[in-house]
Amino acid sequence: MIPGVRGTRDIVPGDVERWQHVEAVARDVCGRYGYRELRTPIIEREELFAKGTGESTDIVQKEMYAFTDKGGERVTLRPEATPGMVRAYVEHALEQALAVPKLFTIGPMFRYERPQKGRYRQFHQLNVEVFGVADAALDAEVIEMACTFVETLAIQGTELVINSVGCPACRPAFSEALLNGLGEDLPKLCGDCQRRAATNPLRIFDCKVAADQSVIDQLPHSVDFLCDTCREHFEAVQRYLRAYEQPFRVSHRLVRGLDYYTRTTFEILASQLGAQNALLGGGRYDGLVKQLGGADRPGIGFAAGLERLVLALPGTDDEVAPDVFVAALGAAAREAAFVLARALRAGGLQTLVDYEPRSAKAQLKRANRARARYAVIVGDDELARGEVTVKTMATGEQHSVARDGVVAALSSS
Ligand SMILES: [Zn+2]
Ligand SMILES: [Zn+2]
Repeated sequence: MIPGVRGTRDIVPGDVERWQHVEAVARDVCGRYGYRELRTPIIEREELFAKGTGESTDIVQKEMYAFTDKGGERVTLRPEATPGMVRAYVEHALEQALAVPKLFTIGPMFRYERPQKGRYRQFHQLNVEVFGVADAALDAEVIEMACTFVETLAIQGTELVINSVGCPACRPAFSEALLNGLGEDLPKLCGDCQRRAATNPLRIFDCKVAADQSVIDQLPHSVDFLCDTCREHFEAVQRYLRAYEQPFRVSHRLVRGLDYYTRTTFEILASQLGAQNALLGGGRYDGLVKQLGGADRPGIGFAAGLERLVLALPGTDDEVAPDVFVAALGAAAREAAFVLARALRAGGLQTLVDYEPRSAKAQLKRANRARARYAVIVGDDELARGEVTVKTMATGEQHSVARDGVVAALSSS
């Protein structure tokens, strides 16, 4: 056997139903808030992420599945969706095509990380993006929609945390305050923190190294360095959230790992998932569209990890099972059984048929294993009378039904 690629996994029947449920809820909730689906390729030019995600991020530095293709072009499997969504928004002039460019996508992302429990090199996300609206009302609506999504999935024990990381006008002062705050402690921090101090000091807050935490906890807070417009924006976001009666907590450590965030950042945490506990996260990225060659348009969005959402879903007893299992007894009955199965399927019933000519007992055993609600037994003698036998699998009860009336009888049951 040739095993699957390290860090990837198959989603098999029995598990896939939970994925389909999360995806169906995502589509439904996005639809109700006026989002349209945008599907972009999983392969993009490497430079899109160097420019978009940020040259200094761990993603671009260490984790991209980038390679030179046979035509000599540098391409990569997408490590995240936002830069590709922005690219498509600009490339197809979606600003003109859509009244409000509210877009979502669902699909796989790829990062070459050390595989560990619950982390995969191919993972899946719901991504939601809105372009062209700067008002804080949208920040609050996007956050409220994310909360509605998680609530609709009936995931318990969640908490919304928000923060503001400021804008290009006020962030330099905060970055400087961070470096001053670190002072003589900087050389004591881990290698990643040292590198971050030189490239993007805000990202020191992303550090998970236990020994660094006491220093990081003492650092200044971004909300204390906001310019007037950023502070008013952040206050307005909180006002709207209170109007929605949406509980939240301001977390000073929530700066998000990517370079493009401005102003609002947010995450929904799930207590049941342990240390790596963000179900979804996002924020505003007002400079990104311009940075990727578009007009100067604000943007905001979030990414939700489907692996984590599926893991956090409450258990369900819903079994996927066919409505009908058609069993044929005798050579003439076989053909009639397949024709009947076609009619049942046309009538909207999930129908299985046994493909091997076997005894009635063997076929009913298979119907039982498939957890079919009904078995329809087609025998040569009954067929001659224009009848079939319907067996209710749960009770074992069986009775004769006219061949022509069976679809109607089972559809209405
Ligand atoms: Zn500002
Ligand atoms: Zn560190």
